[in-house]
Amino acid sequence: MIRFQKTSNSGFYLPDHKLALDCSHKEANYFFISHAHSDHMPQNRKTPVYCTRPTLKFMQERGYKGKADILNFFEPLNLGSVRVTLYPAGHILGSSMIFIESDEGTLLYTGDCKTPPSPASEGFSLPENINHLIIEGTFGLPIYRWKPMEEISAEIRNFTNRTLNENCTPVFLAYNLGKAQEIMHLLAPLKHAVQIHKDGYKLCSVYEDEGINLGSYEEYNAETGAGKILITPSTALSKGFASEISNKKIAYCSGWAAVELNRNRSSADYWITLSDHLDFFELINVCKQISPEKVTITHSPNPEVILHYLSNLGINAEAV
Ligand SMILES: [Zn+2]
Ligand SMILES: [Zn+2]
Repeated sequence: MIRFQKTSNSGFYLPDHKLALDCSHKEANYFFISHAHSDHMPQNRKTPVYCTRPTLKFMQERGYKGKADILNFFEPLNLGSVRVTLYPAGHILGSSMIFIESDEGTLLYTGDCKTPPSPASEGFSLPENINHLIIEGTFGLPIYRWKPMEEISAEIRNFTNRTLNENCTPVFLAYNLGKAQEIMHLLAPLKHAVQIHKDGYKLCSVYEDEGINLGSYEEYNAETGAGKILITPSTALSKGFASEISNKKIAYCSGWAAVELNRNRSSADYWITLSDHLDFFELINVCKQISPEKVTITHSPNPEVILHYLSNLGINAEAV
């Protein structure tokens, strides 16, 4: 088994191969970044990294100044004592799982992942022969079971049509990177103009460069936004985004919307359970399908239930 350490920012370090996964470990020689969400990007903005092309473009838009070697999915990279290959993680565009092969065995680090994959990603695909699986368990309780994407997609379109028919402006609350563009992609068949918050707007061209249709969109403009579909992170809404626009209906899009209690905490008019992480049942399925010698659950606020299910399946698992 490849030895590993969890680092303070929830990344991982493989000391025998001086390999850092989603962190800037000071002894590392090689740094791999799974995707461009801020909790996975290197804290040191100049660290040279390996990542996919969309991940690099997103990181650069978000202030990364270092050098990067772009890796394509499925193309192994030999680094002396290890061979590293990226596999699509289905979480957001460019998101990758990092597969490491060495004399001590193989390890798959999923980063954030989703299966079935987000329709605005490169898909989800697993390598063969995984000895050790490090997988995220963000939604690691059986209360989290996502509906099929076609149903969620219909819900998003129906909310939009209903709101527009009432002469109101639909506003979607979603992260700037990933969720926002996924919603735009699902709304593209409506052919209705979209305005998106400036921080999300500058990331959209990366999606289009990779062939993902986001429909017709522009940056949010308070003077022309009424009657368009608006997309913004919730933090911007509380700072005055769309405050000029009367008659708006707000839809909150998140995996956390699955829980009634979380709904009461947000001031939205409508809740859509749209997550960019896998749900509890897919998590168990992936572990079952791979059936590795060991599973390490990470990113989980409550791993005990997953550990219980995995031990019932005879899978050796721990949480870090
Ligand atoms: Zn993420
Ligand atoms: Zn994350």
